[in-house]
Amino acid sequence: IAYELPSGGFNHANAGARIPLGLKSKSMRVLVTGGSGFVGSHLVDRLMARGDNVIVVDNFFTGRKDNIIHHLRNPRFELIRHDVVEPILLEVDQIYHLACPASPVHYKYNPVKTIISFYLPYTVIHGFHYGTYRDMSNYRDHKTNVVGTLNMLGLAKRINARFLLTSTSEVYGDPLEHPQVETYWGNVNPIGVRSCYDEGKRVAETLTMDYHRGLNIEVRIARIFNTYGPRMCLDDGRVVSNFVAQALRKQPLTVYGDGKQTRSFQYVSDLVEGLMKLMEGEHVGPFNLGNPGEFTMLELAKVVQDTIDPNAKIEFRPNTEDDPHKRKPDISRAKELLGWQPAVTLREGLPLMVSDFRHRIFGDKEGGSR
Ligand code: NAD
Ligand code: UDP
Ligand code: UDP
Repeated sequence: IAYELPSGGFNHANAGARIPLGLKSKSMRVLVTGGSGFVGSHLVDRLMARGDNVIVVDNFFTGRKDNIIHHLRNPRFELIRHDVVEPILLEVDQIYHLACPASPVHYKYNPVKTIISFYLPYTVIHGFHYGTYRDMSNYRDHKTNVVGTLNMLGLAKRINARFLLTSTSEVYGDPLEHPQVETYWGNVNPIGVRSCYDEGKRVAETLTMDYHRGLNIEVRIARIFNTYGPRMCLDDGRVVSNFVAQALRKQPLTVYGDGKQTRSFQYVSDLVEGLMKLMEGEHVGPFNLGNPGEFTMLELAKVVQDTIDPNAKIEFRPNTEDDPHKRKPDISRAKELLGWQPAVTLREGLPLMVSDFRHRIFGDKEGGSR
């Protein structure tokens, strides 16, 4: 078999990722960073079903091999354990860049993140000083968002691949405009506890646009609003996964603050559809990808009660610092330019997630996502 060999001056351990040339014309070669995570693994399923050759790069920080285990024997699939903070040489046509610790705000509740109780000063890039952090996971978020995105853009540049960044609605911070339109610049506290994520993604967007404008790299930017579904991390502190796991375990649902803050919840298959339409389309974005249905946390708790256990109790807890009061996407741009809009309502999507969670928590035969 003829192989395409990596070019360029890198001498990295993973530089030998070779793709048989014969496959090039028949199907797309796609890299998914963070592909063993929640969203990434659903995207990988769709790309594999389409007949693509898929490479997943993941350091398993929050991702799980279990999420992509069903592809491991497929010759069109390749899994590389790698941290995107380090350079990598690959040959692909498209890069979906998802790698990112997606719940940094909740590191206090996240058992997979090591909390280190000393102060760690760290300058990120080009004198861009982020300050001093209490916690190793924040430091890691910056490296992943900034250095990781830079590396993936450098890779896209070298191999002339199309690059898609999964940014976030958090770039709007605690928004002063409602619903949020892509032209809104946001209201982010640059020195707050959430800023490692918000500002990290904002820098990632800036880098993406600079590579596009300055170096003519083909890029796409998605601003993803709260998404839920099977394979979500069980204990990463996000509200839908918390409520579902709590109701199943017969624990009280923990509502932070007064529970009147709002979010819009998108089912994961809708998001994956939107990401693929964005990648294949002609528009750079940014595009809001989210479900415009808006719920208070108390309303969400009610939907969870109705779906799992009407007797589930609610327990109020103090809210986290800088928590956005409301969030709801304006998706007119995606509707018009991508022909995309979500199809699954919260009441339809939640039961699909519940059976997966039930299966993972209790190991019974009833649930399962795959
Ligand atoms: P996730 O934590 O399930 O997936 C992230 C994946 O990236 C994991 O598999 C993790 O192991 C991997 N990863 C993290 N740091 C890495 C590194 N340095 N090198 C290589 N791999 C690394 O989260 P998710 O919900 O699937 O999020 C995917 C993307 O979508 C993220 O970029 C996130 O910011 C974005 N997003 C998600 C939501 C949501 O509600 N799920 C909302 C907005 C944005
Ligand atoms: N890079 C990579 N793989 C590649 C090409 C680049 O990981 O195939 C990384 C490399 O570490 C570099 C970053 O991407 O630091 C940015 O690359 P670029 O060529 O844009 O910048 P330069 O190396 O010239 O600073
Ligand atoms: N939240 C809650 N109970 C929980 C976890 C979160 O009430 O157990 C609230 C949180 O304060 C926020 C909302 O739910 O107002 C959404 O939180 P999440 O972390 O899921 O997403 P994000 O804040 O990033 O939108």
